[in-house]
Amino acid sequence: MIPQANPKAGYLAQRADIDAAILRVLNDGWYIMGEEVAAFEREFAAFTRTRFAVGVASGTDALTLGLRALDIGPGDAVITVSHTAVATVAAIELAGATPVLVDIGADWTMDPGALEKLLGAWPVGVPKAKAIVPVHLYGQPAAMAKIAAIADAHGLIMIEDCSQAHGAGINNRLVGSWSRLAAYSLYPTKNLGALGDAGIISTDDPVLQEKLCALRQYGWRDRYISDMPGINSRLDPIQAGVLRVKLQVLERDTERRRAIAARYDAGLAGLSGLALPARSAGYAPVFHQYVVNAGPRRDALQAALKAREILTVVHYPVPIHLQPAYRGRIAIGPGGLPQSERAAHSVLSLPMFPQLSDDDIDSVIEAIRGFWKTT
Ligand SMILES: *Cc1c(COP(=O)(O)O)cnc(C)c1O
Repeated sequence: MIPQANPKAGYLAQRADIDAAILRVLNDGWYIMGEEVAAFEREFAAFTRTRFAVGVASGTDALTLGLRALDIGPGDAVITVSHTAVATVAAIELAGATPVLVDIGADWTMDPGALEKLLGAWPVGVPKAKAIVPVHLYGQPAAMAKIAAIADAHGLIMIEDCSQAHGAGINNRLVGSWSRLAAYSLYPTKNLGALGDAGIISTDDPVLQEKLCALRQYGWRDRYISDMPGINSRLDPIQAGVLRVKLQVLERDTERRRAIAARYDAGLAGLSGLALPARSAGYAPVFHQYVVNAGPRRDALQAALKAREILTVVHYPVPIHLQPAYRGRIAIGPGGLPQSERAAHSVLSLPMFPQLSDDDIDSVIEAIRGFWKTT
């Protein structure tokens, strides 16, 4: 059986070092925050080339607290996409703000043209736009030059959701660097994944860093004195210990993801009606997922692969604006979100994790080519 993702393989690949890190924290006897968390924050900040990083309990919290740190909340609208993890939209509502969803392009990320149209025809009865949350989905950087220019022109704050794009960039500029702060999930299957829940925020701004540190811990600036209403969203030091080990191999893992993607690209080229991931000049995606567009044959392809014990996943089967929790009450761009709705029926995420072997990749390619020929 070839799994679609395999966080256990990521653990086994570093088992001795991860076990040692966990034991170090256990024996250290300091089980909340402390030096392990501070060390991971320094190391992650170096990785993102920012001055600071603030560890929190999840990617959802990283976004929510990031929005709150920028004073985005009730009475503010935040624009993001419908084709993303539901957490992106949930975090905006958790901050008290109003999500407004805009369509995506062929690269599955925010369409700058749709964004411009939305801002030119703002939905009635919706609060004023205050921020944009581009999502670097599947490890593919969003069109940041265009989105940043639109944000500037409209005086909007930007917060990048980098949960699927640790280390991705455009022309040597890393994702996250277009915003005053950027949010990352460290969920086990992410490119940098803990062995449980975790998240982190990167920023160059010492004022934001201080505020985020307060917000994640009851609003404390000094112990037992809350300066602002906060929550409990601390990064667990055991997870920080694990993440320090995983961070050391992240660049190597990313290179392996890119090599897997290149092998898929070569092996799957030339199948008419099967679109491979978009490649843009200067973009350095990190292939959190390798997503093909199989059009109307998607479900049949997925079933055929499953019959050969090759597991795939549909990210995401229902756009957020059509999910029961949101349907009918979430504002969307003018003309609706046709690309997002089409994507839900045509995307398929192939097996993708650094420990995937070349033989397994070739089996996936062969199975897809076999299916494509016979249908
Ligand atoms: C995983 C993910 C999140 C949420 O992260 P959690 O750690 O599960 O809270 C947010 N946005 C995107 C794009 C994600 O992929």
